Amino acid sequence: MVEEAFKYAAEPENATTAESAWQAIQTCREVYNHALTQEYKPAPDYDKPSYTTMQNELPQWKREWSEWSSVYSKCLQIAVRRIKHSETILGKLKERGFNVGELRWKSPREYRSITYNQSGFNVDSNTGRTDHATVKLSKIGTFHLNYHRPLPDNSDIKEVILKKQKTGDWTVSIMVEYDADYPEKPAVEDIDGGDTVGIDLGITKFIHDSDGRAFGPLDEEEGRERIDKRHQAVSRKEHESNNWNKARRRLARAYERLSNKRKAYREALANDYTQRYDAVFLEDLNIGSMMQQNGNSRNIASMSWYETLQTFQRFGEKNGCHVVLVPPDGTTKRCVKCGVESEKPLWVREHSCPSCGFETDRDMNAALEVQRLGLLELGVVEDESGLGQELAESTPAETGTSAGSLQREVVPASAVVDTGSPICSRARSARSHGQRDRNE
Ligand SMILES: [Zn+2]
Repeated sequence: MVEEAFKYAAEPENATTAESAWQAIQTCREVYNHALTQEYKPAPDYDKPSYTTMQNELPQWKREWSEWSSVYSKCLQIAVRRIKHSETILGKLKERGFNVGELRWKSPREYRSITYNQSGFNVDSNTGRTDHATVKLSKIGTFHLNYHRPLPDNSDIKEVILKKQKTGDWTVSIMVEYDADYPEKPAVEDIDGGDTVGIDLGITKFIHDSDGRAFGPLDEEEGRERIDKRHQAVSRKEHESNNWNKARRRLARAYERLSNKRKAYREALANDYTQRYDAVFLEDLNIGSMMQQNGNSRNIASMSWYETLQTFQRFGEKNGCHVVLVPPDGTTKRCVKCGVESEKPLWVREHSCPSCGFETDRDMNAALEVQRLGLLELGVVEDESGLGQELAESTPAETGTSAGSLQREVVPASAVVDTGSPICSRARSARSHGQRDRNE
């Protein structure tokens, strides 16, 4: 069984539906805020109320605030449950070294969705119109969906989430459970080392892999300029005026565009790699290397890293590919060939081992080291001795030229985003081209 969310653009049937949907969301917000600030937060750490305990108080609260009864009651329970859910997520992020705050009272702008779990909704995709479905939500009304991607056959709908995005647009996410027809992953004993790849994730090059491919970071300049301009536009408008609201929606759209672009890039790469290889190895989130950057860019970089790892894991499931995360410590310092560590400040771009003399570029050594660790971790190779040497010798870098003259082409992100995917073929031709150059 697989769980997957399907997200659709949605239109309310009419103005009344839109109005009651927003009202219902705001009621969920009030319940959330009440439970958080009156029940959960005041309790001492060792005695936090469970969500069941808080849920059980709902009838009492509804007697006090009768307008709360106008919302489907299961939705209010979910709003209470959201506190625990958010706590868990915060805890996980903290564990990974993120700088996170604590749960706070939410303003209308920060609370924009309502969740129907198990009941209170009806999804109808047999409307007789193409790319169209409706979802009827109890005590709210009907939304029309742009049903561009049908739900899988025999899927079981677990949850429906209605959200009013910051752009002002409505979306409906349908969480389904179904038997996925995913290909099986190859048995570990059948995997050939050559059908695996190690990936070094970086800042200057987004990806560098052990087969010598490199992909540049996404060019975000245009998107950022758009965001800056729209920020300025918002600040010039009168606070809370109609124009101010309009400008805020335009700003939200600019953010959305940039984040969609990032997502498309990650997905194109993850899809291609997991289709091409039996196993893909990546470094787990490396807080240590993130600390070398300053505050905000550090958080952004680590978030994007985290999302990249998750995307690869998701596509690994879909494409029948093992995706293995290896411990990130020391992959840059350690020589893949002999294992000796040497200090390497960020600006040193070559790897030149003081112990065995192996020379390649810095990212190539790291990618090979990731591959070495991955092969051991997955169990493709059991005997560690000689593995690093084997990998080092199989690289295109071992053709006798000095590391400094190795100029591999870095595929720009635009080539990936614009074409959708045929990236690796392009990168491969770049690589064989590079080899020819060196052999001449
Ligand atoms: Zn060495």
